Amino acid sequence: MINILFAAKPERWPTYEAPLRAALKAANIEAQLAQDIAPDQVDYIVYAPNSDLQDFMPYTRAKAVLNLWAGVEQITGNETLKIPLARMVDPGLTKGMVEWVTGHVMRYHLGMDAHIVNPSHEWKIKTPPLAQEREVVIFGLGALGTACAKVLLGLGFRVTGWSRSAKDVAGVTCLHGDEGFGEALRRAEIAVTLLPDTPATTDIFNAKTLGQMPHGSFLINPGRGPLIDDDALIAALDSGRIAHATLDVFRTEPLPKEHPFWAHPQVTVTPHIAAETRASTASEVIVENIKRGEQGAPFINLVDRTLGY
Ligand code: NAP
Repeated sequence: MINILFAAKPERWPTYEAPLRAALKAANIEAQLAQDIAPDQVDYIVYAPNSDLQDFMPYTRAKAVLNLWAGVEQITGNETLKIPLARMVDPGLTKGMVEWVTGHVMRYHLGMDAHIVNPSHEWKIKTPPLAQEREVVIFGLGALGTACAKVLLGLGFRVTGWSRSAKDVAGVTCLHGDEGFGEALRRAEIAVTLLPDTPATTDIFNAKTLGQMPHGSFLINPGRGPLIDDDALIAALDSGRIAHATLDVFRTEPLPKEHPFWAHPQVTVTPHIAAETRASTASEVIVENIKRGEQGAPFINLVDRTLGY
């Protein structure tokens, strides 16, 4: 019998309890799963970074922290955490992100706004280009970026991806590192940012780099708020360099009511809803890692804390 602590906000427990128990049963793992277990008895910690648990030192026999979120920037710097940290790569979350990104790319590509809001009742005819005439660049070609790239490719877009290390995704122009960044920016008629928040990615979209994007391009950020220098983006919107931005994530969340993004006519704010971890599929991923821990096999989705993701 192993002990699994569920360390997330109490309101998440009703969502996760049954799927986690079902996944444990399906894997034939006998476990006590609870929100409160004596720290020195805990074998695995199912974790959300906004939980009250911030000091991992008393969890002397725990084998791993299994994060419920894809993003780990709130936990990578925790010096009390000495055991392996796995992040969430959840098929349900990935599907949600693909749908959100595709929807917002299609909004820009088809110029939908002109017809959704048309108070002058003008008969405006402007045929959009075909997807094959439009270049979408995905900044961050990881679990989420690659899934989005493949679906956009399937719709016919010209797709470029940019990552830290070299990648090979069939049909996608793969660029990487500092040397590939300028070209990725220059190609980005529609930019989708799916990078993690790390010291290397903070303010990566700033006055200089936004200025390298094509005039009148679109920016979609479901990654993390600190990727973008807010003031530089507002200046780029005002100059027309960026025609419109859809932002799902922000430096401060909820986005403060007085933040200029709310009122800017070329910004759509969505309240960090691009993709949520889905309890049923995520529970299977968590239990797969517990199974691996019990078998002495390597954990999946491990975070490299020196890189911060
Ligand atoms: P991932 O699999 O770790 O992929 C991250 C990608 O970013 C990888 O391609 C990585 O390059 C690249 N990257 C990291 N640092 C870089 C750098 N300095 N320069 C260039 N490329 C860099 O992460 P994921 O699962 O796709 O998730 C991406 C992010 O989405 C998460 O970190 C989270 O912040 C965000 N997210 C948002 C929501 C939402 O609802 N808005 C939901 C889930 C996740 P390599 O491939 O070379 O490692």
